[in-house]
Amino acid sequence: MNELSERFTPAEPPKPAGEKIRCDACPVMCYIAEGRTGACDRYGNRDGRIVRLDPVTILHHAAETGGKAIPFAADAEDWDGSLVGARPFVTAIGAGTTYPDYKPAPFIVAQEVEGVDLVTVVTEGIFSYCGVKVKIDTDRHVGPETAIVRAKGEAIGHVTTAEYGSQMLSIGGVHHLTGGSKAEGRATCEAMLDLCNRKPVELTIDGGATVIVEAGKAPVIDGKTEHRMRVGCGSATIGMFATQWRGLVDEVVVVDDHITGVVSEHQAGKVLGWEDTGIKILGRRSTPGRYFKVSEPGLGWGGTTITDPLQILGDWNAKKGARPGLSLLMVSTTGEQFAYFELDDALRPVEKPFPQRLRKSVELIEDNCEPALCTVLFMAGAGGSLRAGVTENPVNLTRSVQGLKTYVTCGGAPVYVWPGGGITLMVDVTRTPENAFGSVPTPALVAPIEFTLRRDDYLRLGGYAGEIRTVADVLERGGEYASPRRQAAAPAGNLWPPLAQLHRDAAS
Ligand code: SF4
Repeated sequence: MNELSERFTPAEPPKPAGEKIRCDACPVMCYIAEGRTGACDRYGNRDGRIVRLDPVTILHHAAETGGKAIPFAADAEDWDGSLVGARPFVTAIGAGTTYPDYKPAPFIVAQEVEGVDLVTVVTEGIFSYCGVKVKIDTDRHVGPETAIVRAKGEAIGHVTTAEYGSQMLSIGGVHHLTGGSKAEGRATCEAMLDLCNRKPVELTIDGGATVIVEAGKAPVIDGKTEHRMRVGCGSATIGMFATQWRGLVDEVVVVDDHITGVVSEHQAGKVLGWEDTGIKILGRRSTPGRYFKVSEPGLGWGGTTITDPLQILGDWNAKKGARPGLSLLMVSTTGEQFAYFELDDALRPVEKPFPQRLRKSVELIEDNCEPALCTVLFMAGAGGSLRAGVTENPVNLTRSVQGLKTYVTCGGAPVYVWPGGGITLMVDVTRTPENAFGSVPTPALVAPIEFTLRRDDYLRLGGYAGEIRTVADVLERGGEYASPRRQAAAPAGNLWPPLAQLHRDAAS
């Protein structure tokens, strides 16, 4: 037991050691024996008392004050409890919660920031209605839209619309968590938890690929690590680089699953005075120099099934400019695949060694590609029960969030709040501290959530005035579940959370 935790005396005297006691933090209501943990490993029975086992994480925003960053402490025991100049933010990581929230949030903390009296309400939300949106930067075909995504053989989500240069997956949601079999719920919860805590997760897609997704890392698709995100579709690539190819080659085809581009026919080529070449593309012509459906989606050139680019070419037309010796560059939208051809006397393209003069322009495509990454966004709705832990009149919190008076964070990281009803939010998990997420076996994910607003606004919306404490008091006495405290440097790039809001208010 942490020394600081020991100093905290709970309101009710601890039960005698050895007796099983009930954890009331979620509807599972585990009976926990002395020295053991409950079903979720988040709470345990220590000395006859229910204790939240992970320390409350207090982030220090040192950079903005020019102070020294405090390294992560393995635990709070070697910390003397003093504040060290940087601005602290009490996150909900390790704060605990009750679900449903029949009592105020575990920590309601006041702090003056830039002359404004603020209150932060801190709680770990238990989210049955939550999901994960995954963006995989790749042209490669991971599976058809609406195909089922599986983890350990269980259906945990589906493929959604491809976005520019990325394939998107929707994982989780209440139907997979609680609407299917127990195994499905467990697999969904486990995959989401690992994705949110930035661990690698292997996902298989019905009729598609096997993808290893890890937030902030390159995707691995069917065992192959992806390196580059495409620079654009074939047409966009032509637009970007047509001038680089002018005078060096007679024709350029940029092979792409969505829009394959042909420079001599494309508007960009026309403007530059490119001559007709008599080329024929086997695909559906959209507008001049832009072709759809040159192939099915796949793992080949530009996200097609093509391994030999000549497959998409028909006969060359001499009447429209084809002639022996005409030069042709074929390249993919990432610049990873490229080949050079010249027409022979029978107007058939023959592959030749790749000429030095074209290398620079192909490298330019590669240079313009961004690294391929997996992005994981946790998405959840802060429901009525959670809001009841913040205020006696929960809808007031919704209105305050929607009116931009209350700033919402997830482990201190900024969130995107969806317009419309409720408090539906998304957060980039790479901006939250490590292992910010937990789970309970209902099954549901547990995520930190903090609401920060002006103290007067908090009182106006029916906040729990009697529960407001100072940061120093939280550090000193901990909370109801007697968890230890841990200080950590705030992740780089996150301002002290409500500062953005304060600055916006000041500017408006
Ligand atoms: S699952 Fe965890 S939070 Fe829920 S009652 Fe059991 S120990 Fe407590």
